[in-house]
Amino acid sequence: MIDLNPPGPVPWICRTLERAGFETWAVGGAVRDGLAGRGTGDWDLTTAAPPEEIRRLFRRTVPIGIEHGTVGVLARDGTLYEVTTFRRDVETSGRHAVVSFAETLDEDLARRDFTINAVAWHPLRRCVHDPYGGVEDLRQRRLRTVGDPGERFAEDYLRILRALRFAGIFRLQVDPGTWRALVEAVPRMGILSPERIREELEKILSSHERPSAALSLYAASGVLAFLYPELDRLVGPLPEPSGHSHLLMDGWSHSLLAADAIPPSQWPLRLTVLLSRLGLPTESTGAGEEGLPPPERGRQRAAALLKRLRSSNARIARVAGAVEWVIQPPSADAPDPALRRWLAGAGRERLSDLVRVWIAESRVGGWPGGDRLPTLIHRLRRISRSDVPLSVGELDFSGRDLIRMGHRPGRYFGELLEHLLDRVLEDPVLNRRDVLEEEARRWIEQTQTKVKERGNVAG
Ligand code: ATP
Ligand code: MG
Repeated sequence: MIDLNPPGPVPWICRTLERAGFETWAVGGAVRDGLAGRGTGDWDLTTAAPPEEIRRLFRRTVPIGIEHGTVGVLARDGTLYEVTTFRRDVETSGRHAVVSFAETLDEDLARRDFTINAVAWHPLRRCVHDPYGGVEDLRQRRLRTVGDPGERFAEDYLRILRALRFAGIFRLQVDPGTWRALVEAVPRMGILSPERIREELEKILSSHERPSAALSLYAASGVLAFLYPELDRLVGPLPEPSGHSHLLMDGWSHSLLAADAIPPSQWPLRLTVLLSRLGLPTESTGAGEEGLPPPERGRQRAAALLKRLRSSNARIARVAGAVEWVIQPPSADAPDPALRRWLAGAGRERLSDLVRVWIAESRVGGWPGGDRLPTLIHRLRRISRSDVPLSVGELDFSGRDLIRMGHRPGRYFGELLEHLLDRVLEDPVLNRRDVLEEEARRWIEQTQTKVKERGNVAG
């Protein structure tokens, strides 16, 4: 007997199906997590009952994937449980499988990827059915494929990423045979869809206290070099002493530690940390490459990487934007105008992301400014919360005022408003309509004089 404490509906669903004559087991992630002593997520059931029978036996069902044999059973508490008819793979392609219904639990377990995922647990008898030794593997902290590892990876290359994720989360040693086959399969995983690759990365970041464990395996297996070559370049020997020589280890290791210092619920910031060093020079990136300064180069590379993964535009803007600003913090002792200009560039709305990343970096020694971080954060927050305008739209003066003054709208409006903002960032007391109107008049006069002078020279 092994007790896994499933939620009430699990034995209820099992009892209902078994009374109707259909063998039913709990399988997959919930059983594995329960056996490992971790909180369990979604409880999935596998049954001999065909989908029509499942739908007939329960009052409230949802056809989740009838063609794959999955019916959602809605419990009284509103939770949806996936009940899937025993299946076997008929055909595999390296990225998806054609399945058909199977007769037995054993057939169903045989198609599952790793032994720890191929343990069935009976919700009434409270015993396991474990033909591949998954319970023992969990105890021995070992990750093995069900069956021949080379064949199993070739059926679905996503299993490479799943293996690294499970090994990281459960601190498992990948069995030597499985590891060899995994490493050999890496160059063929190019057929996977970017969305599935991204989901795997996001699962590591969002569901794991220490994403560094699985991500280190990404590097060790060659997955990082294959899927994320620009990150793989950060792995390795220390960069030459430079402006960033406060790093005591290579950029990749530092980012991993900093990612661990951010809670899983804030996983987009973990992503930011991972990508934050993309613009910094490394041994293998020659100076002058692309001719961009590191912050912009970092933003470009981060955006390109996220675009490749088909991330949403909102996510790309948030993460790549933070990558640009997070590696160029202002000095904690900079004069007020400089801090205001910096914050106007970064954007008020981004400050909380940047602060969280800096704090994580400082916890692991990746912060260049010594013990001055609290001062910097305090000063930036005070500016951010004040009513000092940090963008043109926040000025007490706008294009409408220029029109009222009799000017025709044109491209110079933007330039002029930027100039006014710059003056106000220098000295916030200037943010008054009458003062800015006067300043605008002066600017226009000067510009016209300049244009005329240039015209004279040209003439
Ligand atoms: P998580 O939900 O954390 O990803 P999980 O093990 O529950 O972990 P699911 O994708 O929910 O993963 O799949 C449930 C079960 O289905 C797995 O435990 C495994 O038995 C099987 N399975 C899922 N994906 C595959 C795959 N690519 N190859 C073989 N079996 C798989
Ligand atoms: Mg699951």
